[in-house]
Amino acid sequence: MALLRDASPEAIADAAQRLAHGGLIGLPTETVYGLAANVVDDDAVRRIFAAKGRPADHPLIAHIAAPEDGDWARALAPFVTGVPPWALAAARTFWPGPLTLVLPRREGACAVAAGHLPTLAVRCPAHPVAQSLLRAASVLGVPGVAAPSANRFGRVSPTRAQHVLSEFEAHQNDEALLILDGGVCDVGIESTIIDASRDHPVLLRPGMLDLAALEQVMGQAIAPADAAAPKVSGSLASHYAPRARVVLVDTAEWLTLWTQLPERVRAHTAAYAPAPVLPTDAAQTRAMPADAAACAHELFAVLRDLDQASIEAIWVARPAPDPAWDGVRDRLQRAAA
Ligand code: AMP
Ligand code: MG
Repeated sequence: MALLRDASPEAIADAAQRLAHGGLIGLPTETVYGLAANVVDDDAVRRIFAAKGRPADHPLIAHIAAPEDGDWARALAPFVTGVPPWALAAARTFWPGPLTLVLPRREGACAVAAGHLPTLAVRCPAHPVAQSLLRAASVLGVPGVAAPSANRFGRVSPTRAQHVLSEFEAHQNDEALLILDGGVCDVGIESTIIDASRDHPVLLRPGMLDLAALEQVMGQAIAPADAAAPKVSGSLASHYAPRARVVLVDTAEWLTLWTQLPERVRAHTAAYAPAPVLPTDAAQTRAMPADAAACAHELFAVLRDLDQASIEAIWVARPAPDPAWDGVRDRLQRAAA
């Protein structure tokens, strides 16, 4: 059973109590909604894996409260060691915000959340409800929460409280899953993940953060992921997938390919593309914004809306090869895989 509540001070206090007692919370963040548990409570963290159907070796991101004095090194100290100065510089500039840093894990800390890897992914979310809950929980002895996206493993991430409810309505648990409604997620796709556990930064997952700005702040070039990079479930070829098949189509070829589709196929095909190529005879249509941030903001909600029972395929325009679209392109490629 899942229970949806407005994120009032009372609901946040209730959620903090539940976290302190090993419960799971549907948590709004600025990227997507998370399924949160006390990061140092191994049993609670195992319940996240079970609820999502997520393999236990796919590590989770630890979410921490912003330190009042801005001392990020001290805030990170219970979890990780050997934080490079360039990673601290990134934290100082981009936290709270949609940036995750993978750092050398302190021995014995958060082993289950980290999938027993020697590293731990950490982020400080900017959403005011997430920050309020993290602060309230820390007073009760919860130093942070492990929070993957609040969806079944491999599926479309939730960007509204209602999405979380529909994912976990049939949630089988002794206690109801409390979902805090913090409105529509601002960013709309998951955080940018940087591996900061080696001697130079490596991009594990693109998000909406401007990598050029990040490089400037770190004074380091960001390398693409290589064979030595830790595994990231968001890097599986297939992820973020709706039930209907997602087909990526180049805008230049869209009109030609669409006219070749038999009418009975068009009647079961939805389309998400820039207005000029959007067909009038698709089963469902949504105009794709010209701006990458606007597209990221609505992307997962659009995929969920278009993924109706009568729809067999969702045609989506392939984003331009522009770095601003890297995060959206990455999610769409995996949704289509
Ligand atoms: P989500 O599936 O939405 O929870 O996204 C969390 C992402 O962070 C996943 O792709 C994880 O695999 C990745 N991640 C978490 N911890 C680590 C880690 N220690 N090393 C590398 N990737 C990590
Ligand atoms: Mg996810």
